[in-house]
Parts: sequence; C-alpha cells; structure tokens
Amino acid sequence: MRFLLLLVTALIGVWLWRSHRAGDETLRGNAPPSPPLLQDMVRCPVCSVHVPKTDAVVGQRGLYCCAEHRRRAEG
Ligand SMILES: [Zn+2]
Repeated sequence: MRFLLLLVTALIGVWLWRSHRAGDETLRGNAPPSPPLLQDMVRCPVCSVHVPKTDAVVGQRGLYCCAEHRRRAEG
C-alpha cells in the first residue's frame, strides 16, 4: 500500500513537472519572433538585381527593383 502511495505521488510529480514545462513552451511560443535575418528576395527581370520583396515595386507582370524598370518592362 505504501508503494502504491509512492507511485501515485511520483506520477503526480511527473505530471506537474511536465505541465509546468508545457507552460514554459507556451510562453516561449507567445514571445515575439526575432526579426528574420533573411528576407524574401525577388529578382528584377530587367536588371537581375535582387531586392527585398517588401521594397520591390509591384507590376502587372511581376516585381521590379524600381518604378523605372517596371515602366521599361511593361511599357
Ligand atoms: Zn531593375
């Protein structure tokens, strides 16, 4: 009977430890992600320069490094 009590206590301890660790991982998941070092890069079809997607100029046929190249490619 004492053995059973010890076993139950150990199981509860393990369960508490695991749920605590799961809480830690949840906290870590909610932390803001570090800024990505590598941005999405797109290639300008006119000059073949790679520019970050956020800085690219959006055209009808694709993404360009600048408005001048978009004009040159799309007329
Ligand atoms: Zn370009």
